[in-house]
Amino acid sequence: MPSYIFKKRGEIIMADNQKMWTDLGMDLEQHDILCEVLPGAIGDVFLTQKNRPAAMDYFDMVLADVHGLRPGELVEFKKNGGKVFGTFCAYVPDEVIFAAGGIATGLCAGSQFWVPGGEKYLPANTCPLIKAMLGARFEKTCPFYRLADMYVGETTCDGKKKAYEILATDIPLHVMDLPQMKRERDHLKWAEEIKDLIKIVEEVTGNKVTEEALAENIKKINLKRQALQRLYNLRASKNVPISGTDVLLVSQIAYYDDPERFASMVNKLCDELEERVENGVDVAKGAKRILVSGTPMAIPNWKLHNIIETSGGVVVCEETCTGTRYFENQVDETGKNLDEMVQNIADRYLGINCACFTPNTARADDVIRLAKASKADGVIDISLMFCQTYDIEGRSLEQRCKEEGIPFLGIETDYTDNDAQQLKTRIGAFIEILG
Ligand code: SF4
Ligand code: SF4
Repeated sequence: MPSYIFKKRGEIIMADNQKMWTDLGMDLEQHDILCEVLPGAIGDVFLTQKNRPAAMDYFDMVLADVHGLRPGELVEFKKNGGKVFGTFCAYVPDEVIFAAGGIATGLCAGSQFWVPGGEKYLPANTCPLIKAMLGARFEKTCPFYRLADMYVGETTCDGKKKAYEILATDIPLHVMDLPQMKRERDHLKWAEEIKDLIKIVEEVTGNKVTEEALAENIKKINLKRQALQRLYNLRASKNVPISGTDVLLVSQIAYYDDPERFASMVNKLCDELEERVENGVDVAKGAKRILVSGTPMAIPNWKLHNIIETSGGVVVCEETCTGTRYFENQVDETGKNLDEMVQNIADRYLGINCACFTPNTARADDVIRLAKASKADGVIDISLMFCQTYDIEGRSLEQRCKEEGIPFLGIETDYTDNDAQQLKTRIGAFIEILG
């Protein structure tokens, strides 16, 4: 069974990963069906864009062989005794896993392909991301879900909590109990949860998390965050040097690529974008600038960006977990011992403003701040269907945007294309009123 990698821009070549997938116990027949749609989707969504930065080649290549390249590296790592931890959320601190000599990899769950499989275990009125999580595991069509030695979940929403119980029947799974408020005692409690995670990863990997290793990995993950921040700063330029769809792909890959290589590739992209900014290159001349907020968009969910950017808009910022929530705020690097470092990690991660918190007015503050910084003409807030917290929060966010005079459009959608035409009409009309 072939997979697809890019030899050079726009050209797809075959690579054979069949043996690895067989060894991982994957359902190759179903996997073939999943892979068949990828080249077409890449062509339609990415390669039709004009004037893409040359440095996107790396991210195109990673995407085009998404089930081959990185899984291949992880399988090699495991052959030498390495342990891989699959994670689902921006709150799981990668620093700790890497400090124990493990590798953290995001488990994306962004495809409709996995939703029917998830519905065998979950009510249909569950968020598509959660259904896709279960479908990807149980239908055996994702190498990342197969190769992880352990999953690390978190108590961010009720649907996920219950889904983790089901996943735990099939794979070792550790759940971190995320506080849902941000008082001082919640910060202390989250630090305790991180200490528990340290014990778990030490047991699984057989390696101690030392002060040196944790300090080193705090720096390493901070560098990745800094690279992403640099990328987002460049998008704030008056002339837009890169499409939002391309940046979304970069943000999605951030969850599973090697952190150091990823940071260096993002910095390479930023070098090129800096030149573009200086030379006045604009990939979306005349397009209306949109900030997207809301639920995460995991690979291969490019639906909303694609619709916005083919309807007269350009996405200049994402206040999502595949956006600013993933990289804003660094872990303080001045911790002198393990306790201080863990507390610094806890404080940084509790600074993420997910709708699972109450109160969560800081998220609306973030949206307003980011909309102003990115010179957005309007905000489009997306809630995955049946995600109560983001759906409910959308109303107060709309009110805040109204008070600030920022045009706002709220959208609820899923992974299917059933509503694509209707979304195109609504988004097109919204963009038109932006003047
Ligand atoms: S939206 Fe909340 S629950 Fe979902 S990935 Fe982000 S932080 Fe985690
Ligand atoms: S989108 Fe909402 S319902 Fe779905 S996993 Fe995230 S927080 Fe939970």
